Amino acid sequence: MKTQQEWQELKQTLEIQTQAFINGEYCSAMEKQQFEVVNPATGEVLGCVARCLQEDVDSAVSHARRVFDDGSWSDASPTQRKSVLLRFADLIDSHRDELALLETLDTGKPISHSYSTDIPGSANAIRWYAEAIDKTYGEVAPTEKEVHAFISHQPIGVVAAIVPWNFPLWLACWKLGPALAAGCSVVLKPSEKSSLTAIFLGKLANEAGIPKGVFQVVTGFGHEAGEALARHQDVNCITFTGSTKVAGQLMVSSGESNLKRVWAEAGGKNANIIFDDYEDLDKAANEAAAGCFYNQGEVCVAATRLLIHNSIKDEFVDKLLSATERFQPKDPLDPQSAMGALIDVEHKRKVLNYIRLGIKEGASLIGGEEPIKTGAFLSPAILDNVTNSMCVAQEEIFGPVLSVITFETEEEAIQIANDSKYGLGAAIWTDNINRAHRVAKKLAAGTVWVNNYNEGDMSVPFGGFKMSGNGRDKSLHALEKFTETKTTWIRLNP
Ligand code: NAD
Repeated sequence: MKTQQEWQELKQTLEIQTQAFINGEYCSAMEKQQFEVVNPATGEVLGCVARCLQEDVDSAVSHARRVFDDGSWSDASPTQRKSVLLRFADLIDSHRDELALLETLDTGKPISHSYSTDIPGSANAIRWYAEAIDKTYGEVAPTEKEVHAFISHQPIGVVAAIVPWNFPLWLACWKLGPALAAGCSVVLKPSEKSSLTAIFLGKLANEAGIPKGVFQVVTGFGHEAGEALARHQDVNCITFTGSTKVAGQLMVSSGESNLKRVWAEAGGKNANIIFDDYEDLDKAANEAAAGCFYNQGEVCVAATRLLIHNSIKDEFVDKLLSATERFQPKDPLDPQSAMGALIDVEHKRKVLNYIRLGIKEGASLIGGEEPIKTGAFLSPAILDNVTNSMCVAQEEIFGPVLSVITFETEEEAIQIANDSKYGLGAAIWTDNINRAHRVAKKLAAGTVWVNNYNEGDMSVPFGGFKMSGNGRDKSLHALEKFTETKTTWIRLNP
């Protein structure tokens, strides 16, 4: 990977494309409106991005529909789509430096993370579904012998992918991979806070040979471009990652328009449970810190609620404090940085308010210093003596704030973990295999980790119970979200 100096040099020559990408071409919004994008680490304006409105969305959706209906992608053989998408993935890999730099400049996340996780993860997501699509079969039903019934999956049509700012390209590719592989046309709406890598994908899509209109990017705000997609009569499916609040709004928009499918991956308030029978507390403390503070804590599955057995609490908290030291914020372009800037100053204010609220509710801020307050940087905060009914334990803060909660018994740990409107992820640390299975089964969470936090692979589904969403991203399970299931009955002549 490049040095800090080399990243700075690349920044000087980096071309930043800021237009929407509609029907294979970069274009301004029809009303010519724009909005500024700012590097949260420096406050520098990176560019002015097209502010798409209803008419831009209408145009993108009509191109998406036209190309879907003409079949040039939707009816292409799976092997054809596979070879184009493999090229697309290779192009993401070959532009890894520019994409990683754009992601870091746009979001404030450490360059080492963009470079080693976000960008290769994005290419991998596209590649995984490209590889899967010509190995996916339909079914034949076990009916009476006079009939033949088969079940096939057809691409659902026009898909709107609406994504957040914390892993802008990576989460977009979790959606693009299966939707494009299935044969859909996709209109991607990145967050207004992080549009740059999505825009960059446009030229790669052209180079890869994705037909015009099959992949498009409408940039802009949620209440404008986002809502126009959500209420559009000709969009068949929304695949969304973002807040629980907006997930609910999308369901209303769908219900009030055309009942488009809404697949939502939403918020989390995840419990990381450390039992007193687990021996390697150093390992658990390191992963507890990384699980909460990775990506500045701006992670839906962040380990924000540490549930720790009373008898090991003091020892564990000391280890946690040491493990947290490496997450002091630094220049995101420094390859040694493990924590960069939050997405913007406004979000930092919100996170700081939660820390103050926690203290007001009776928690104590440990770790010595008051969190630093320059620009959008914020050092990690650990709140001790939290009870699960406090706002800081119930609400998603989406920043580097960890709440320490104690328990006495296994039942109590399960009860506290499940006492949340969310159900995205949870972890258990135990050396007792019976306990591991017993507790994993009872936790209301889409993913349960045992003796690790945050293992992941494209081959496993990801998503939540309760208000953390519906449907699943990743794995073969995600493909079905982008298809309609069709049953065909054939009566056989005697
Ligand atoms: P957000 O819900 O504010 O915005 C997400 C996207 O929705 C953005 O593109 C936004 O412009 C758009 N949007 C906003 N209002 C809209 C509307 N009325 N109609 C249509 N689109 C609209 O979320 P955010 O602040 O960008 O991201 C943080 C949230 O994302 C957190 O809650 C986090 O937990 C969640 N998240 C979940 C997962 C997961 O897989 N479950 C992963 C990452 C982030």
